[in-house]
Amino acid sequence: MEQTATQDIPPSKRPLPVPHSNRDYDFFYQGLEAGKLLVQKCDGCGTVRNPPGPMCPHCHSLKWTPIECRGTGTVYSYTVHYHPPLPNFDSPHAIVLADMSEGFRLIGGLQGARPEDIRIGMPLVVGFERRGEVSTFHFRLA
Ligand SMILES: [Zn+2]
Repeated sequence: MEQTATQDIPPSKRPLPVPHSNRDYDFFYQGLEAGKLLVQKCDGCGTVRNPPGPMCPHCHSLKWTPIECRGTGTVYSYTVHYHPPLPNFDSPHAIVLADMSEGFRLIGGLQGARPEDIRIGMPLVVGFERRGEVSTFHFRLA
């Protein structure tokens, strides 16, 4: 079987990097495998928090429960990456910081929108995608 060199494939057709998990993020990626966006909710004070961590930053409780999110939010802020080129990502590509409906913020790539069309406050929806053996997510304009 003949192999194709990566540089012969257009960047938009190359496989994107696979995210890596750890003990704090394992529940998050397990949720993505099930098509769910999960976030930590503190059992002590009810704070919904992201990024995941072992301890609530408000009440210091170590107990938490994963809750399923609606996957909706709005653009709180964004950046457009131009340079240096990232392996297998289109350039430019947008990354948004979203105010999620449940009251936490989440960073993710924005697909299906031109960077010049992005505005603060635009409604977003989460989409799921598979990268090799790992499920991950992205944002789209709602
Ligand atoms: Zn708490």
